[in-house]
Amino acid sequence: MKKIAIYGKGGIGKSTTVSNVSAAIAAMGLTVMQIGCDPKADSTCNLTGGKNIPTVLNTLREKGDAVLEDIVVKSPSGVLCVESGGPVPGVGCAGRGIITAFEKLEELDAYEIYRPDVVLYDVLGDVVCGGFSMPIRGGYADEVCIVTSGEMMSLYAASNIAHAVKSFGKRGYATLRGLILNAKNVEGENELVDKAAEEIEAPVLYRLPRHPLVQQAEAQGKTVVEAFPDSDMAAHYRELAQLLIQETAGGGCSCPM
Ligand code: ADP
Ligand code: MG
Repeated sequence: MKKIAIYGKGGIGKSTTVSNVSAAIAAMGLTVMQIGCDPKADSTCNLTGGKNIPTVLNTLREKGDAVLEDIVVKSPSGVLCVESGGPVPGVGCAGRGIITAFEKLEELDAYEIYRPDVVLYDVLGDVVCGGFSMPIRGGYADEVCIVTSGEMMSLYAASNIAHAVKSFGKRGYATLRGLILNAKNVEGENELVDKAAEEIEAPVLYRLPRHPLVQQAEAQGKTVVEAFPDSDMAAHYRELAQLLIQETAGGGCSCPM
């Protein structure tokens, strides 16, 4: 089982990227689970026809407990979708919500029962507090990738996330695999992201162009990979998926979760 956490600033394109990668991995015949770790709880909605699935936290709040069928929804493309959800606005801690969701999945033996080949965590990286760093330091993810554009705020978030991974990394947790450039077409974008990659001593793994088909697919509640499989953009996502599931020297550790 390969476990990858994808971090990045809110709105940078994490969920779009992760959903397309998940759909591409599922199309290869592998079992993939996508776990949204963002109070927005819309990580998987382009896999499920634009509909939001019940979140772990809401289910626990409303039913007092949960069974796997409540919180793991299989998309038409075969992706196992989970959303941690968030606290009631103004009350409670979003980070704590992620911890609760992860503990529930483990308690219900989700990984043993579904046996995913790949687990993708889609994590909001604006604040890398105790809860939002869980995928890195709790033994959940083996590798971390950071989605960024050339915009200053997303590069700033990327740098914070990279520092968090590196400080935990010394203790044998997840390793930083690299950056995924999701273009916003700002001036000098490639060079800005290259420079950031050099500073955090990690490679730019892939460069995704900005493409109008992303919005067109979104309007249908779909990923580009499913809505426009023959497009250049779908080919980009498939190429990124191939790259992410490849074995790496530092990744693929078999430590217990
Ligand atoms: P995040 O999960 O990081 O908050 P989203 O994946 O929800 O961000 O993306 C935010 C918006 O950016 C979405 O409306 C999406 O359609 C758009 N978007 C993401 N990636 C691309 C891209 N490569 N080309 C065009 N639009 C994109
Ligand atoms: Mg998102």
